[in-house]
Amino acid sequence: MIFFYFVLGVAAWTLIEYGMHHWNGHLMKGKTHFSREHLRHHVKANYFSPMADKVKLALFVIGSITLVGAVLTSLSVSLPFALGVGVGYSVYEYVHWSLHMTAPNSWYARWARRHHFSHHFTDARFNHGVTTPVWDIVFRTYRSPQVIRVPRKLAMGWLLDENGDLAEQFASDYQLKGRVSRALIKPPKYQERPAA
Ligand SMILES: [Zn+2]
Ligand SMILES: [Zn+2]
Repeated sequence: MIFFYFVLGVAAWTLIEYGMHHWNGHLMKGKTHFSREHLRHHVKANYFSPMADKVKLALFVIGSITLVGAVLTSLSVSLPFALGVGVGYSVYEYVHWSLHMTAPNSWYARWARRHHFSHHFTDARFNHGVTTPVWDIVFRTYRSPQVIRVPRKLAMGWLLDENGDLAEQFASDYQLKGRVSRALIKPPKYQERPAA
């Protein structure tokens, strides 16, 4: 039974993940602290809220769930449930960070990046779940990603080759739009003059 409440906690997390992002992140349009932080993440794609703030909030929420749950039911229910929420949250944080920072290396990794970056760069009204599309489907905010056009200045490092162009292996999923930044253009290689 403990395992059941743990799994229920993980499942509840996926709804919190969707709800935080959809209602608090986007529909609040910058009126809450979380919403401002989230919109900043959209404007500067490699911006993430400070880890210390996240850990403090997570401990507060998980502690509250444990205590309130213990009063309403019992500690043997609320503790595994809260633990499930905590594990779900940690996995989400890791997944979201790796979507932005590391190249996909599996079917799921490719899917999750396309789902999330179509939210960032195609239409922010859709695809608010990060680890799963379930709640997007339930709340009708799911949109199947087409080729995603990523502004060059916001492009994830893993999307680019050493010349700052789109890496060939991602050409069927992504395109770059906007000007090539001067910082990304390599100076021409120095060529030695042939000896006279
Ligand atoms: Zn993101
Ligand atoms: Zn968003």
